[in-house]
Amino acid sequence: MIRRIVLLAAALAVLKLAVLFTHAALVIQFLIAAGLVAVWVLTLLVKPFGRCWLCGGKGNLRRPGSSRAPVCPLCHGMKRRQRTGSKAVHRVRRQVAAHWRGAR
Ligand SMILES: [Zn+2]
Repeated sequence: MIRRIVLLAAALAVLKLAVLFTHAALVIQFLIAAGLVAVWVLTLLVKPFGRCWLCGGKGNLRRPGSSRAPVCPLCHGMKRRQRTGSKAVHRVRRQVAAHWRGAR
C-alpha cells in the first residue's frame, strides 16, 4: 500500500516535471519567435526596400529568344520594391517619435 502511494507520488512528480519542462520549452519557443520578429522589424527599419523578386533586381524581364526586354511590371524598372510592412513600421516609428516630441 505504501509502495503504491510512493509510486503514485513519483509518477506525479515526473508528470509535474514534464509539465514544467514543456512549459519552459513553450516559453523558449515563444522567446525565439518574438526575437525573430523583432530582428525582422529591425531589418525593415534599416532596409525598407528589397530587391524586386520578379525581375531579380534587373529592372526588365528578358525572356530567352526575345530581343527586346519588357520593363518589369512589378517595380517599373526601379529594380527594387518596398518591403511588405516597412511602411507600417516606419509609420509607427514616426508616431512614437512625434509622441515623445510632443510630451516634452
Ligand atoms: Zn522588377
